[in-house]
Amino acid sequence: MTGLPWLSPPARRGVVHLVGAGPGDPGLLTLRAATLLATADLVAHDRLVPGAILDLLPPTVDRVAVGKPAPGTCGWRQDAISDLLVAEARAGRAVVRLKGGDPFVFGRGGEEAIHCHQAGIEVEVVPGVTSAVAAPAAAGIPVTHRGLASAVAFVTGHEDPDKPASQLDWSGLAAFPGTLVFLMGVHHAARIADQLVLHGRDATTPAAVVRWGTTARQQELITTLGDLAVDVLRSGIASPATIVIGDVVRVRDAIRGHAPVVDALAH
Ligand code: SAH
Repeated sequence: MTGLPWLSPPARRGVVHLVGAGPGDPGLLTLRAATLLATADLVAHDRLVPGAILDLLPPTVDRVAVGKPAPGTCGWRQDAISDLLVAEARAGRAVVRLKGGDPFVFGRGGEEAIHCHQAGIEVEVVPGVTSAVAAPAAAGIPVTHRGLASAVAFVTGHEDPDKPASQLDWSGLAAFPGTLVFLMGVHHAARIADQLVLHGRDATTPAAVVRWGTTARQQELITTLGDLAVDVLRSGIASPATIVIGDVVRVRDAIRGHAPVVDALAH
C-alpha cells in the first residue's frame, strides 16, 4: 500500500474515520479507504474484515478486532466500541473504524458516529461497497434489471429472538415489487422463506445465497424460495452470506455468458 499515490489527505489525529472496507476483495476498497488505512495510528475493525485487507496495513499501525468473535458468542459491546474510538481520538490518535461493506448498511455505523459527535469528536464517513449489492453481483446477479426488477429492498435477516413480535412487515415484503436482499439471514433462511410464502410470495420465485462474495472463498447456491430452507441445510452454506430473492436470479447465467439470453433481456 505504501506504493499508492496519495490521492487524498492522510488520516487526521483526534478524528475518527468511519470507513467501509467493501465486501472482502481488497481491490474493492475505495482509494480514500486505502489512504486512511496507510496513514492511521489505530485501526479498529470488525471480525468480517478479511485478513487480505488487514495484511495491507503498515506494520506500524495498531489494530484491534472489535467485532463479535463468532455468532452467538459475546464480543465487544457496542458502547465499549464507541468508548474506545472516543478515548483513542481524545488521546490524539488518528483512528480508523473499519467496517465490512458500507458502514451504514446494517453496520451500526450511525450509532458510532452519533456517539463520537456527542463526545465532541470529529467523524469522517467513508462509504464502502456494500455486500448487499456486491455479493449478488460477484455471483452474476444484478439486484435490478430492466424488465425484471425496478426496485430492491435490503432487509435484515437477523432479528433479536427475544423480540415479542417481528419488526419486519412480512406482508409488505412479500408484496414488494422488486428484489429482496437479506443480510445476516442464512441462519434464519427457513423462517424468512416461510414468512414470505405465507404472506403470498410465490414459492417458485428464484432465490440465491452467496457466501464470502467477491473473495476466493465465494460459494453460491441457486434455488427457489420454496426450496431455500432445505437447500441451505443440505448444502451447509453458512454465514456470512447474502440471500437474494427475485427474478433477477434468472439472468445469472446470461450475465456470466454461460447461456443464451433469456426472454426478459430481449425486450
Ligand atoms: N455493512 C455490511 C453488512 C454488515 S451485516 C455491508 O454493507 O456489506 C453482515 C452481513 O453482511 C453478513 O451476515 C452477510 O449477510 C453480509 N456479508 C458481508 N460480507 C459478505 C460477503 N463477502 N458475501 C456475502 N455476504 C456478506
